[in-house]
Amino acid sequence: MQDFMNGRYGADELSFSLGVLGIVLALLATIFSVRVLSLIALAVLIIALARSFSKNISARRKENDAFRTQAAKIPVVGERIANMGSSARSAYGSASTAARGATKEDLKRQARTAKKMWKERKTKAFLKCPTCGTMLSVPKGKGRLIVTCPKCKTRMETKS
Ligand SMILES: [Zn+2]
Repeated sequence: MQDFMNGRYGADELSFSLGVLGIVLALLATIFSVRVLSLIALAVLIIALARSFSKNISARRKENDAFRTQAAKIPVVGERIANMGSSARSAYGSASTAARGATKEDLKRQARTAKKMWKERKTKAFLKCPTCGTMLSVPKGKGRLIVTCPKCKTRMETKS
């Protein structure tokens, strides 16, 4: 699954909403036995899946942004759609995170780290853990130091 989702877009608000719409249409089609409606439901579900498996990530992202802009104008429903999206994303788990690249949260965290590093640049030296990539800081001017990563316990040597 991980390999399959690699480089693919994954779930978003639009796909998730289409999925819900498709299921509702399929139910209605069954209840009222309307054949055309069940075909429409199938088409909607196929579109939702095709979007998730798409490799044209920027195009899918644009579609989703447009959809979210429109959906946000509808009170309550717009909010629900935003929530649906986040639960859909967590269902996809790490596979979708890898496929999507950096998320908004990642970018925010990176910005915070950069800000902190700039602030402490005169008193601290920074190094990246070679094993897990965590940013570590050590006091400056202490010469050679052995640092242990608090996250993965890797030990490394650094000059500060
Ligand atoms: Zn580490």
